[in-house]
Amino acid sequence: MRSHLPRIEISLSQIRDNTRLLTELYGQKGVSLMGVSKAVLGNPAVAEAMIQGGVKFIADSRIENIQRMKLAGIAAQFVLLRTALSQAESVIESVDISLNTEIETIQKLAYFAKAHQKTHQIILMVELGDLREGILPCDLPQFIRETLTLSHIKIAGIGCNLACYGGVKPDGRNMHKLSKLAAEIEKTFQIRLDIVSGGNSANYDWYQSGQAIGKVNNLRLGESIFLGREIVNRKAIPGLHTHAFQLIAEVIESKKKPSLPVGEICQDAFGNVPKFEDRGICRRAIVALGRQDVLVSGLESSSQIEILGASSDHIILNDPNHRLQVGDEVSFNLDYGALLTAMTSPFIKKQLNR
Ligand SMILES: *Cc1c(COP(=O)(O)O)cnc(C)c1O
Repeated sequence: MRSHLPRIEISLSQIRDNTRLLTELYGQKGVSLMGVSKAVLGNPAVAEAMIQGGVKFIADSRIENIQRMKLAGIAAQFVLLRTALSQAESVIESVDISLNTEIETIQKLAYFAKAHQKTHQIILMVELGDLREGILPCDLPQFIRETLTLSHIKIAGIGCNLACYGGVKPDGRNMHKLSKLAAEIEKTFQIRLDIVSGGNSANYDWYQSGQAIGKVNNLRLGESIFLGREIVNRKAIPGLHTHAFQLIAEVIESKKKPSLPVGEICQDAFGNVPKFEDRGICRRAIVALGRQDVLVSGLESSSQIEILGASSDHIILNDPNHRLQVGDEVSFNLDYGALLTAMTSPFIKKQLNR
């Protein structure tokens, strides 16, 4: 039987290995991990591989992904990374812990938690400079005071998210600030915060720097588990697999063509006016994959093959050694953006390898 093209090949054993190494590394200082499944759309087999690798929590930003995993029988504590007011009732039904920053949303969660006779746990996200989600530290005490008046809601902890929107690096200063806030909350309100979630795959350098981790006892990791990298400098983490996902596409044309287009140059299919360098006649190949499927700038092929450009359905490759024939398969490594888009494309088959 021929394999479907294009396809993304997913190595479950490599994801399990990566998760195990990371749970052991972070576990040395008592930091638990949430395996973040959004880049794989909550693929149940991938979630299972992360659980086998040692994570207790599976976190996702989309409730549909969590529902998919639960339906498939995945047993874990499910964490929702992004909570919308309109989804409050489904959150109560499907999620154990949700990340929150708005009191209206938490009130709505409390309302439905009561209706469903459940206690819902929340992590309050604090703004520490990256300017994505977060309660401002100065507003935190009043926020907690109001939250504590709600029944059926338990504050499981606090957290922060850096290096996402503002590109702010997790360091000793912002991590100390988070620890200090946690300590102040515990003291002021006489409550225990089980979870102090310090961030994501960008926290690796801070953790490895040997500074005190304070009260930080959790991280939420996607990219490090899937691609084996930290994300401040996008360096590979020693011992981790960096090719657990491979995107395979089919060559549909292989010809010699000039490197300069012929005729007057206008806008391309995406509204850009392309520029070209004259490299004479080149051996080029086209693969049946395009910008509708994947963030092409996040693809990387072997050293002899260069990606020249792409339109919605075609990627043009420079193939100087003429290795590619019609019908051949070309394999690409992916960065996080390419992984996210390829997993979301309905045209790309997801092939799970043990
Ligand atoms: C996506 C996401 C993560 C995971 O980030 P990685 O860089 O993939 O480790 C963690 N926390 C939140 C809130 C997220 O939205």
